[in-house]
Amino acid sequence: MKFADIPGYESIKDKLTKAADSGQVAHAQLFACTEGGFGLMMALAYAQYLNCENPSDGDSCGTCFSCIKSSKFVHPDIHYLFPVAKSKKADSDELAALTPSFRNFLNDTPFGSGSDWADTAGFENRTPIINVRAVRETIQGLQLKAFEGKFKIQLIWQPETLRAEGANALLKILEEPPAKTVFMLISREPDNLLPTLISRMQRVGIPLPVYEQIISFLTARFGEDSERLKNAVALSEGSVPEAIKLMEEKEDDYHRWYLEWLRACFRQDTSRFLQLSEEFQEMGKELQKTFLKYCMEKTRKAFIFSSGAGEILHVQEAEKTDLEKLGKILHGDAAEKMLSELDKTWYHIDRNASARMVFFDCSMGMASAFKLPKTLA
Ligand SMILES: [Zn+2]
Repeated sequence: MKFADIPGYESIKDKLTKAADSGQVAHAQLFACTEGGFGLMMALAYAQYLNCENPSDGDSCGTCFSCIKSSKFVHPDIHYLFPVAKSKKADSDELAALTPSFRNFLNDTPFGSGSDWADTAGFENRTPIINVRAVRETIQGLQLKAFEGKFKIQLIWQPETLRAEGANALLKILEEPPAKTVFMLISREPDNLLPTLISRMQRVGIPLPVYEQIISFLTARFGEDSERLKNAVALSEGSVPEAIKLMEEKEDDYHRWYLEWLRACFRQDTSRFLQLSEEFQEMGKELQKTFLKYCMEKTRKAFIFSSGAGEILHVQEAEKTDLEKLGKILHGDAAEKMLSELDKTWYHIDRNASARMVFFDCSMGMASAFKLPKTLA
């Protein structure tokens, strides 16, 4: 991974490379970032830069032996610690067993969210954490291993999943770090880390990527700069994986489902609620969340149209006609009630509630929205 693979953030890259060039690399760094953003990629690019044999113009060369190994995530001096779910087999070394999957994850979706990783690794409903044994073994390994590059680097992704014991074990080594060793902790919830850990680290804040950054990243990835891509990015609220999912999913399907669902709610058709809840259940968690986001966005836009402020939205003619129609039923309190039901449902799905149940409840809630008296003439 090169810095050039990450769009924008020039001042952050500049700060990092200047520190390296002047021999002032902090031995522990906290990459404070957002879910679905570029924090992990920034740490990977920095790790590659630190050990590159010929860095120039503020980036690693990408072609030396060290860079080639870094870019395949097999550099002997770059180590990874990441959350894993407890295996059903007692005493198995999950971290080692899942390292190949994690390398694939880094290769394909280094911007992926925690739930993307859980899907890749097949954790199902087991919650992945970084357990204390993995921390202790990692630390031991770090102290023993000889190194061939300039730095030994330990990346720790999602340190917020550490429990107290693991965090304390980590704290110990940060207090007495081995020479030429750099710890990079990449956290989407940096404020949930132990304050004593935070105080040991230099903070590198990676803000939510803006629209242009994601557009530029996805344009390179998909080789196109289409209207569809722009819509996907606009809907994704700064989350790269979300935008990709929207790109890859057929938006037409969401629209069809959304309309069917609305119709069922409008007719108070509870038997249809049951069937739809079954269909939504089949989607899987991530698509359910994306679909709910889609529903919220459509509802919000329709509401804006119903209140006569449609011109503030830059939508194309076809969508405009569509939203004007929807706006006839999605206005005032009904739209507000629907949005709050959808939002609540997203929250429960995110926390692994039974999709069948929450979608059914949501349908009932939305149906009741249509019983509310009209507030608009
Ligand atoms: Zn290089």
